[in-house]
Amino acid sequence: MANREIIIVGGGMVGALSALLLAKHGDTLHLIEKSPVLMPEQGEPFDLRVSAFSAQSKHLLEQAGVWDDIPLDRLCAYQGLETWEKGSQKLAFSSDDIGAEQLGYIAENRWIQTVLWQRLKQLANVHFYEQTEVVNITQHVDTENKNQHVDAENKNSQRIVTVTLADQQTIRADLLLACDGGNSGVRKHLQLPVTSWDYRQHCLLINITTDCAQQSVTWQEFRETGPCAFLPLAGNNASLVWYHSPQKIKLLQSLNNQQLKQTILAEFPKLEFDFEVHNKGGFPLTRRHAKKYYQGSVVLVGDAAHTINPLAGQGVNLGFKDVQCLVELLTQCSDLSIPEILKRYQCQRRPANLLMQTGMDVFYKVSKSDDPLIRIIRKSFLGVAQQSGQIKNRVMRYAMGIN
Ligand SMILES: Cc1cc2nc3c(=O)[nH]c(=O)nc-3n(C[C@H](O)[C@H](O)[C@H](O)COP(=O)(O)OP(=O)(O)OC[C@H]3O[C@@H](n4cnc5c(N)ncnc54)[C@H](O)[C@@H]3O)c2cc1C
Repeated sequence: MANREIIIVGGGMVGALSALLLAKHGDTLHLIEKSPVLMPEQGEPFDLRVSAFSAQSKHLLEQAGVWDDIPLDRLCAYQGLETWEKGSQKLAFSSDDIGAEQLGYIAENRWIQTVLWQRLKQLANVHFYEQTEVVNITQHVDTENKNQHVDAENKNSQRIVTVTLADQQTIRADLLLACDGGNSGVRKHLQLPVTSWDYRQHCLLINITTDCAQQSVTWQEFRETGPCAFLPLAGNNASLVWYHSPQKIKLLQSLNNQQLKQTILAEFPKLEFDFEVHNKGGFPLTRRHAKKYYQGSVVLVGDAAHTINPLAGQGVNLGFKDVQCLVELLTQCSDLSIPEILKRYQCQRRPANLLMQTGMDVFYKVSKSDDPLIRIIRKSFLGVAQQSGQIKNRVMRYAMGIN
């Protein structure tokens, strides 16, 4: 079915990318975003929310036609990734080892959202509903569609989705994509069950400027209190990520920038340059996974379906893989009904997301364990992995989404 009417709730990175790819295909999009989308100015200080984007995510943004819109002074390509346990050997990955120019890119979430919105605003088949919220969602079987088979219980029948907004405006569509983030109101409204737990850890994001450019290597040191990471940003900018107990993060947040700098110098892994702290913010870490990704003609995409420990920087990359899968099914299998497409989407994406979530959890638990046996195995593994070109290269290609 071509020229569908599609509602997207949530215009973050995942919702905006979905909207753009589907709009380019000729569908009519209704994009609902509750927060003001503020277009950042060039030269503004770096925002705290940054993400590492894989080669595969870059490819999708290229396909959407926005990659070249990201200002070069907001984009950092990195060639090296190093990880180690405090006091032990480094495991170092390099783009040279797999003949790639870089391992990935780091950019602010809001710039990715901005370049997507700028393109969306140029399209006549995208309608915007900004700073408003969905107050009701109903679905009914599409009895007018003569091409579809309506089964006895209506389980596999095409549904029409009707959304009511806070101002009582209603929108009708063939499909609704819930891209409204980890606390998805759509998911709650439909009472789609989730498994979730708190990691009982928070992380502090700290933006710094450095006395020299630091773009080429990102690193992470594992400690029993949680990882400490360094993410290079464009120019003389970087982001420090400090995982710790909620109490410790609250304490760090209460420090002024100068006091925080002194604490970083005393407690964070050694930084090889001088720096100034500019901004900081704490985030709780929660894992969630929806047990079902769709109901009728409503489907969960990105963080609305799954949130993951950010230690390996995979959250939005998984969200973009969801987008790619769903858009491919919608555009290439147009002979299939929406329920069949959503079923296939769930079959492809849920196991893959679960595997990544579980892998990250095992890694996280093992990295924090002070059990002597696990410590020996952990150190030996890092040593063996460093020596084994093949294992390293496979891990690297998987993380880059080019396996
Ligand atoms: C500390 C931290 C570091 C991270 N680092 C990385 C990284 O390096 N790499 C990576 O891949 N991922 C990373 N992530 C994960 C990444 O940030 C998320 O996966 C990504 O932002 C999810 O995008 P999304 O569009 O699905 O959801 P969101 O970014 O949450 O966007 C949801 C949008 O929906 C809107 N919305 C919400 N409710 C409604 C409603 N009722 N009606 C209308 N609109 C609504 C919101 O305003 C928002 O614009 C990190 C996460 C954290 C917490």
